[in-house]
This record gives sequence, C-alpha cells and structure tokens, in this order.
Amino acid sequence: MSEWIDHAVVLRVGHFREADLWLKLLCRRHGMLTLFAFGGSRSKRRFPGCLDVLNSLRCRVRTSGRAASFMNLEEAVLEEGPQGLRSDWRRMGLATNCLRFVEALGVTEEGADKAFALVEDLRRTLDTAQELPGMLPLFFRLRFAGAAGFAPCLSHCGLCGKPVTGAAQFVVDEGQIRCPACRKDAPPAHYGVDLSSAVLQILCTVQQTQPSTWQFSPLLPPERRSMSRAIDGFVQYHLGLAWEDGYFRRV
Ligand SMILES: [Zn+2]
Repeated sequence: MSEWIDHAVVLRVGHFREADLWLKLLCRRHGMLTLFAFGGSRSKRRFPGCLDVLNSLRCRVRTSGRAASFMNLEEAVLEEGPQGLRSDWRRMGLATNCLRFVEALGVTEEGADKAFALVEDLRRTLDTAQELPGMLPLFFRLRFAGAAGFAPCLSHCGLCGKPVTGAAQFVVDEGQIRCPACRKDAPPAHYGVDLSSAVLQILCTVQQTQPSTWQFSPLLPPERRSMSRAIDGFVQYHLGLAWEDGYFRRV
C-alpha cells in the first residue's frame, strides 16, 4: 500500500454505487488513471464539490492490491475549474470531443506533464477566449498526438530533407510531406493529401504551441477539407482511432 499526492484534471466521472464514484484522471506526474472515490458524491469534507469534469484538483491517492492496481482517491481539493464553460453547450461539446481523444489515446507517465499542461490550457481557452478556431478539436488531436510522441514532420520534405515553404503533399501512411520536386520523381503516394502553404504553416504552428494562441486567418473550404483529411487520416492510420457517433473507435 502506498500513498501519493499529485495534480490532476478530471476527464470523466461515473457512478458505480449510490454514493461512490469512479473517475478518469489525467495526473501531472502519473499520467491517465482510473480511480475510485468512495463516498465521492456525498462527502463534502473529503471532496468539497470538486469531482466534476474539467476541474483541476490536488489529489491524495492510495494504491493497494497486487501491482498497485486498485487506486483510491482519498481526498481532493479544487485548484482551478471552468467558470462559464459548463453553461455553454456548444463549447462543452468541443471540450468533450477533445477529452475523449485524450482518453482514447491514453497518457503514460512519460508524457504526463506535457499532456496535463495542454488540457489545462484547453480548458482556459474554452472558458475565456472570445473566439475559437473553427477546427479546434482537429488541431487539438494533432497537438496532443505530438505531445504523446506522434508528430508528423510538416516542415521538411521527408525524401530530400529540404525545408518546405510552399504547398506540398502530405503522405498520410508515411507521416511526412513531399516537396513538389521529389513528388515528380517518386512513385505516387498510396494515401496523399495536397496541402496549401497556408495549411502547412498553420499545422506547423499548432504542433509547437498551446491552444490559447491558435488564432489563424480563415481558410478556403477546400483547404479546410484537406486539413481534416490530413489530420484524421494521420490519427486513424498511426494511432488507430476514428471519431464515430461521439466516440473514438479503435480501427
Ligand atoms: Zn523533397
């Protein structure tokens, strides 16, 4: 049996008995975990109104059982939570989409710190930003996959290695781009998506920044379509996840 303290964002909460809850938490040091909170829906002393999705908590956790497989949330204190976000159903929908992706991909101890910072920044952005980029969940998938170590190189040609400044082809199955010169000589890609220079620039920026800074000039409809084909294609091919009816399905 051991005990530790960590900071965590709540990804999901469910009831399993009248007064007891299970929670999926993204912990800053321990990664994504499922825990039980006995008396979670009743105890105002141990959980003062804080066990809610998107809240950031300071948690005391006790592990027991073989291989520390059973984790018990002993106590939690609210550190930060959304203010107006919960009453905005459209923004909550975007939040849910992003959190489902986090859950589906999972977070190990190694990437926990970065993932935690991203989700906290996402919550603050959804809560306070005047305007949100239209493709926020899509951008978040690309960014979060990158934090987990799955980042396609979108700045340099995967064949000749030269920096790409203009339009290029994203080869989804290879997770890299081809410059126009290499594309002419190489055999045709199995699964290629043409990306304009504006799209490539946006995607490179998204890969390196936090959601709160994602303000971009509007794109043309074909550019938006190519962008979602590129990102969703990458997520599906390399991470094995596809968004269907409100869930990410393993494919
Ligand atoms: Zn090239």
